[in-house]
Amino acid sequence: MSKGNSGLFSKSTANATLLLAIAYKAINNMISNTKGGNRKSMAVGAYDSKTGRIATAFAGNIPDKIHPELLKRAKEIGGIDSKGLTDRNTVGVCAEFHAINSLLLSGSNLSDIRLTKAIRPRTGKIQPFCANCLKMFADIIKLS
Ligand SMILES: [Zn+2]
Repeated sequence: MSKGNSGLFSKSTANATLLLAIAYKAINNMISNTKGGNRKSMAVGAYDSKTGRIATAFAGNIPDKIHPELLKRAKEIGGIDSKGLTDRNTVGVCAEFHAINSLLLSGSNLSDIRLTKAIRPRTGKIQPFCANCLKMFADIIKLS
């Protein structure tokens, strides 16, 4: 009999799987509990792999308060309110930006944050991350 390492998943993997499932459920709740939620362009969830804190967000207006780390990252692709690396997106509007910003503002460390896939509420289908998010959140996406 080997000692330890007997579970199918490591504790952290199991935890991540559970948090991801909770985050997807939270996205669905947000969509159904928000007036016009189905007509929003995009929704995403993020979670803190250490604390289990979860944030969900729709794409929308640039947040009033933006964490310094996101300001720094945004600057590298043209800054908040620029098109960044895209033709038509605006840096700061994406659901991913909102969800990660919420977690950072509530005390999470960037290195602990993970993302769900981005969901189009109208169809429930997964949408690819935009070029701005792929660049700004490359480290998070890689670990998610
Ligand atoms: Zn984006």
